[in-house]
Parts: sequence; C-alpha cells; structure tokens
Amino acid sequence: MAEFSVNFRRLSIYQDCATIHCMNWNVLGHEWAEALLKQHIARDQVRHAYLFTGPPGVGRRTLALRFAQALNCLQPPAPGEACGVCRMCTQIERMQQADLAIVAAETVGGTLKVDQVRELQHTLSLTPYEARYRVALLLRFQEAHISAQNALLKTLEEAPEKVILLLTTDAAENLLPTIVSRCEVLRLRALSVGRLAEALQDRWQIPAEEARMLAHLSGGRTGKALFFHDDPEALAMRREWGEDFVRLLTSPRRERFAYADPFRKKEREEIREIYQVWLSFWRDILLVASGAEVPIVNLEWEKDITSLAGATGPRTARICTTNLEQGLIQLDQNLNRQLLTEVLLMDWPRVSESV
Ligand SMILES: [Zn+2]
Repeated sequence: MAEFSVNFRRLSIYQDCATIHCMNWNVLGHEWAEALLKQHIARDQVRHAYLFTGPPGVGRRTLALRFAQALNCLQPPAPGEACGVCRMCTQIERMQQADLAIVAAETVGGTLKVDQVRELQHTLSLTPYEARYRVALLLRFQEAHISAQNALLKTLEEAPEKVILLLTTDAAENLLPTIVSRCEVLRLRALSVGRLAEALQDRWQIPAEEARMLAHLSGGRTGKALFFHDDPEALAMRREWGEDFVRLLTSPRRERFAYADPFRKKEREEIREIYQVWLSFWRDILLVASGAEVPIVNLEWEKDITSLAGATGPRTARICTTNLEQGLIQLDQNLNRQLLTEVLLMDWPRVSESV
C-alpha cells in the first residue's frame, strides 16, 4: 500500500458519463483548475509546463491525465473537452500511449534520477508519433534528485515544439524555485469531508456509513478514499495499526519495548506508514483536546479519541505530534529503526485502561 495507486479502471467512469450527459472531465472537485486548463486549450494558450501540487490522493495525476486527454483527443466534443472513449483517450487513461512519457522514482519515497530526465529529453526531441502533443508526466517530482531537477530546467527553458510537461508534487516549496517559476502552478486542495462522502455514495455507490468513514480517513482526498475502498487489505492493515495505537497507549513500558522489537527488521516504507497512522491519531487527539471544529481522520475511533483527548490534554498531544513528525524525518536518516520507535513509544503517556 505504498502509494494510493488509484485503480484507473475503476476511476474510469467516462463511459457512463459520455452516454448520460456530461461534457466535462468528470474530475471530482478542482473545478477552477479544470476550467483554467480547458480555457488554455480552447484559446490556444497552452503553456509548456504545468505543475499540479497537493497531498497524495488529492487528484493531481488524474487531473493531469484529463488534460493530456483533452490535448490529444481524436474527437473532442468541444475545444478543451475530451470524449473519453476514443483510442487516444483510453490509452492515455491507462497511461499507455506512445506519445505519453511517464517519469517517476521507482518507488514512493525513492529518487527520480538524472538519467531518467536525460532519457526523457531524448524522447521529447522526437516528433510526436501519432498524437498532437507529446506529453511528459513527471510524478512526485519532489523525489527528483537535485541533478535531475537541474537537468529538467533546460527543457523547461527551451521546450521543443508540441511538448507539454506535466509535473506533480506535494508542495511547490519542495522543488527548485527556478522549476516552479517556469510552470503554471495549480494548487489542488482536498474536498470537504461532507462533499466527498456524498460523491462516494452518488458516483461510486458506496454505502453511506462507509462513504463517511472513507471521506474522513482520506481527509477529503478522492484518490486516497478510493484506494482504501478498492483495497480492503490495506484498510484492514491500517485498522490494525490504529488498534495497536490505542492499545499501546494503555500498555506498560515492557510491552512497548516488545512492540518496537520487530521494527529493526521492517522495511522503512512500512514503518513510515505506521508512523503516519499514529501521527493521524495524535493529530485527531490534538484537534479534539483543543476543541477545534475540524473533522477527525479516524472516525471509527471517535470514542477512543475523545477519551484520549480528555486523558492527555492538548499539550501532550502537541508534543507527541511533533515527535512523530520528527520521527518521520529521522526515519529517512537511516537511524536504528527499533531504537527510533522505542524512543517515540516511551515518550507517550500511559493512559489508564478505563479510558
Ligand atoms: Zn477522445
């Protein structure tokens, strides 16, 4: 469950859409971004590079792919629209089209290497094979090595004709400013939890209670919600880590030590995910303890979170939140993973069982 790899087949609801009504990209939310991109095509003002920013699962890649479809659709219903059913549209949807280059680090959290950018540059120097535009989709570009970012600068400065670069990243601040300044930046935000829950019911026929749980769990990110919906095992794993969290808070030191022990053999990616789940709990506890009117992520544990917020208070919750954020950074610095986990767990307060 390393990434919220949205299942594109499931997301592909174009077909019903085309027959029923819409003349839109069928993207959930981000209406302003969709309107802007369509306008660029319709007015023939397409820029060489676009940067889609936002948290994973928010819809950066989906929107970029819709744009690529609209750019290359064989029978666009209107300028800036995509039919969603022609060969070009369907191949781009599957990210398997000869003129669409996908560039990303091999694994999430890995490094996008300079050689990958060089190879891309070679591809982009060729005229499109069959599409109107050659599109390069550079995913999670914050993972690009500094040399790879520098190499891409050259292309951004002198992009070949008929080449469009689409970059996705978590935050523009994590890229070289010179990259950002050469792109049209589209900052995507999560939907409100209520709106996503509604859409999950209407569009994906997910039962109300599950839809509400998923909308909370994903913090309003469509891709992440659908990832958990499509992958019950990932959801079960996440639940288990949530149960561990609640149990560990009532556990004595020796049990916490025992829990941390196998961490020395765990992959860094798995530990990162566990830490992120715990972090989401501490943030929820902090929100409730400070009386913030913001939806919590872990709706299924609402009761536990409310009691834990009462038992720990905002100050402790804030310290534990900060410690975990630090822990995530330290995880990348190749520290001893078991030790790192022990230190985190020992800093947590022990809450009495009655909570
Ligand atoms: Zn089409």
